[in-house]
Amino acid sequence: MKVTKRFVLGGMAALPVAASCTTTAAATARAPDTIVVGAGVFGAWTAEMLRRTGRKVELVDAWGPAHARASSGGESRLTRAGYGTSRRYSEMAADSLEEWKRLSRDQDLPLFHQAGVLAFFDGENEYATGSHETMQALNLRSERLEPADLRKRWPQIDWTSVAFGLHEPDFGALMARRSVGTLVEQFVRNGGTFRKAAILPPKGADTLTSIETITGETLTAGEFVFACGPWLGKLFPDVIGARLFVTKQEIFFFRPPAGDTRFAMPAMPGWIDFFGDTVMYGFPDLESRGFKVADDTHGPIVDPDTNDRLPDAESLARVRDYLGRRFPAMKDAPLSETRVCQYENSSNGDLLIDRHPQWANTILVGMGSGHGFKHGPGVGKAATRLLEAPRAAPEPLFALASKALKQDRAVH
Ligand SMILES: Cc1cc2nc3c(=O)[nH]c(=O)nc-3n(C[C@H](O)[C@H](O)[C@H](O)COP(=O)(O)OP(=O)(O)OC[C@H]3O[C@@H](n4cnc5c(N)ncnc54)[C@H](O)[C@@H]3O)c2cc1C
Repeated sequence: MKVTKRFVLGGMAALPVAASCTTTAAATARAPDTIVVGAGVFGAWTAEMLRRTGRKVELVDAWGPAHARASSGGESRLTRAGYGTSRRYSEMAADSLEEWKRLSRDQDLPLFHQAGVLAFFDGENEYATGSHETMQALNLRSERLEPADLRKRWPQIDWTSVAFGLHEPDFGALMARRSVGTLVEQFVRNGGTFRKAAILPPKGADTLTSIETITGETLTAGEFVFACGPWLGKLFPDVIGARLFVTKQEIFFFRPPAGDTRFAMPAMPGWIDFFGDTVMYGFPDLESRGFKVADDTHGPIVDPDTNDRLPDAESLARVRDYLGRRFPAMKDAPLSETRVCQYENSSNGDLLIDRHPQWANTILVGMGSGHGFKHGPGVGKAATRLLEAPRAAPEPLFALASKALKQDRAVH
């Protein structure tokens, strides 16, 4: 069934909907040049970047943009440029931020909050020094702060065992579900189409010419992009299958003390605490949703369809214990909300943006690995470049060939 923009956003009543944006019958009559399957952050930006080349693009999703079980759903995502010595990710985060800001600029509700991001470390390490040097080389603001500076600027944090911090004042938080919904709204407003349909694992010999929906429809196009997040392995069991590691991740929101402004912007930035082998991260109390805390450690392997989405009591106890030590005034803060999502990890954390090994007209995009959201615009551009230059090799960092069968996480 073809749908209007109003239908696309039907489950997103909080977003403004302009009546003039209905997709017309004329606009949808011709078969699309390109079909993008998956309306998470990667598929939505890829569809938008392809639309900007003049292609007629159809975006398809089984449930809707950034729905509650998608990896792009939920409230907020950090955007930052600190990636150790990986210049490519730092550049991609910075370029992508410009697109996010452009998208955010004309909205009634913000998509990006420039809260700043503060990473702090229990000792010198290559990741921290590499991040600082790479950001400086790219003219991105990065401040190295010693414990005395940290205590002065953020006295609401207990700085015990912290050796130094890196502050990125120009980055911050993206409102996840709202951002993807808004992007799809604009994509449809500008001539793209959205279809709600579940796609079956595709079949083809030398090239892919059509795909089938679960209800028996055949969708035809000249090019295809599959951006199916944690479901990518189900569509491509042989090509992706065991190369994708889907892990359970839990998020906790706590209510700050009444009338206390120390845990909201501008007093509190987004933050990442690197200690030992653990990475805890969180957000200021954005839009009064609560002070968000999460453990970035990979949880158990789960199936995105059957994961019960219930947090474990032990995880809550661990996070609460951490919260009380690092943010003493939050020690007894009541829990206000929990969410259970999944990371769709590659073996080492690098993203996937490559051609299907048999079908040159088909691009596979995914493996956001817990850090992909911020890069949505950059992923869309890279996928578009592969379709624009059929003979060009994929970037080695993003190539399918670099995705191993055993997990060895290297990218955060
Ligand atoms: C808890 C959590 C915290 C995170 N924190 C950060 C962060 O701070 N910063 C950051 O940059 N990144 C972060 N990430 C990572 C980032 O959110 C994900 O990598 C990114 O959202 C993945 O997007 P995607 O489009 O690949 O997948 P998804 O959002 O899952 O989208 C895939 C879409 O494909 C659709 N689909 C699947 N199969 C089919 C089918 N057969 N037919 C039709 N449609 C189909 C699904 O319905 C879904 O909508 C975090 C992720 C999680 C879960």
